[in-house]
Amino acid sequence: MPHHVLAMLNQPSADAPPHDEDAPAFEFVDPERPQLSAMDLGATRGDGIFESISVGDGKPQALDHHLRRFTSSARKLELPAPDEAAWREAILAAIDELQPGAEAWVKAVLTRGVEGDSRPTGWVYAAHAPDHSRTRIDGVRVVVLDRGYRHDVETTSPWLLAGAKTLSYAVNRAVAREAHRRGADDVIFSSSDGYVLEGPTSTVVFQRGNALLTPGTGLGILDGTTQANLFHYAESLGMTTGFELLTPAELAKGDAAWLVSSVRLAAPIRSLDGVDFPMNPVLSAGMNEYLLSLRH
Ligand code: PLP
Repeated sequence: MPHHVLAMLNQPSADAPPHDEDAPAFEFVDPERPQLSAMDLGATRGDGIFESISVGDGKPQALDHHLRRFTSSARKLELPAPDEAAWREAILAAIDELQPGAEAWVKAVLTRGVEGDSRPTGWVYAAHAPDHSRTRIDGVRVVVLDRGYRHDVETTSPWLLAGAKTLSYAVNRAVAREAHRRGADDVIFSSSDGYVLEGPTSTVVFQRGNALLTPGTGLGILDGTTQANLFHYAESLGMTTGFELLTPAELAKGDAAWLVSSVRLAAPIRSLDGVDFPMNPVLSAGMNEYLLSLRH
């Protein structure tokens, strides 16, 4: 069985015509061979959306939440609505096709397709996940970088697509390089008016006493599936959970903090802008154990 698989969707949206009237809903193709038109707007403009989903023991984690967010990103980009049933089927089939392994991940991508052709392009790629077990224990050194948008950008300027999971991730990659130049592993974006937002590929979650908190929604940041699951976990421990708009200086006074995301899961923050940050190894271990056990 292969260690990575690729399925191309025939009709990613019920609102647009299929690529082939007679073809099945999706088709497995060779992931080592080119499959995309050089004129696809996903490739030429980054005009599309994606989701990355954790898979453990052959089960996708938070699939409903990921599909909801996929649809919400499509709405923000005015893309044809993804046919959630077709995507679910292709995602589950891709996982089934994959050689069984402890941890894997699935990427679902929807682009606007080739310019002038009304059919969006969609594919599902599944592969074994890299080993993040050390990072989940040792943590990450984080620097705060200004994203250059106010915290209310989602409401004031929806055309900037803040809060949508678009394919335009060149900036998210550039900030990772900037973090490395500064001797750090990862980044927390702040708004131009000074609030903590999110990581370039993660949600910020922090502990203050018996509370587990996150900056919240409506800030031009992604509605995190991992954060939502961790709130369920914290509540099962008797902790309170909630949303709090805060500055990096206020975050620095927290008892512990994490960058949380699908695949890497909960990475404790070990330093913030070069200053050691307290870690909570017991809670970190519990969080990651819970996330690894979830998988539904
Ligand atoms: N914020 C951004 C910008 C992301 O890219 C991601 C995930 O890739 C997240 C937050 C975390 O989302 P999730 O926990 O659903 O993976």
